[in-house]
Amino acid sequence: MTYDTDDVEAPATPWDALTFFCFVATTALCLCFIFAGMMYRLGVPTDPEEFLVTNFIVSAGVAFPTAILAAQHDFKLRVNQRLLKRLAATDPLTGLLNRRFFKRHAAETLERMQRSGETAGLIIFDLDFFKKVNDRYGHSFGDYVLREVAHIAHSELRGPFDRLGRWGGEEFVVLLSDVTLEQAEAVSERLRYQISAKPISDGQYEAQITASFGVVVLNKDSDLHKLLDEADAALISAKRGGRNRVEFAA
Ligand code: GH3
Ligand code: MG
Ligand code: MG
Repeated sequence: MTYDTDDVEAPATPWDALTFFCFVATTALCLCFIFAGMMYRLGVPTDPEEFLVTNFIVSAGVAFPTAILAAQHDFKLRVNQRLLKRLAATDPLTGLLNRRFFKRHAAETLERMQRSGETAGLIIFDLDFFKKVNDRYGHSFGDYVLREVAHIAHSELRGPFDRLGRWGGEEFVVLLSDVTLEQAEAVSERLRYQISAKPISDGQYEAQITASFGVVVLNKDSDLHKLLDEADAALISAKRGGRNRVEFAA
């Protein structure tokens, strides 16, 4: 499963193939007619009418199969290219944006904010004592928990407006667009509550999961690396403060 990654690279559609087909067919037809025109000027055809009909049949016979083959090839290429781009931007375990793509997206958001003057919130959250979950129930249940947390967090956010990524390990990151400090706090509290609201179970094992949150609000003069450091410092302070809590950057 992947979440909100359509803008990473939209999948290729039959429309792409049709457009390419029309382009190749038109080009091939034009080339055939130019060639025929040259022959005509050189006086090759003895019967111009018959020449026109023959030329039309030959042109169509060359142009359409060429266009079909080219469009088929181009479509396969596009599908694979877009799949590769999508794989390069997402985390295979959770289907969320990966760290590299998230950073790129956050940098673009910052640039946009510098023009529009809007604000945004950045949240980093980390599961509490997650090593114990792995140690007690095994790594594959740990993986299940990570996927479930991704699912819970995603369902609490506003679709493609807020972007959720896996920062690495059991750490996640959220970019909330166009929010105030109070709104960022409300979202973080809601995420914190929902993650801890009920135990996560795969039918065999069950674990009560909590997470700690570091939050920072971005404005147009923000520097992304500094903000990430600040959110991380707030997260560390949430851990030191007892975990399962939200802290803001100083
Ligand atoms: P803290 O509350 O201080 O964050 O404690 P913690 O145990 O969560 O943190 P610690 O850094 O000690 O351990 C993180 C654990 O996350 C260890 C590592 O095995 C686990 N982990 C990281 N990535 C994955 C993953 O992809 N799958 C699974 N199952 N576990 C992972
Ligand atoms: Mg942890
Ligand atoms: Mg961690």
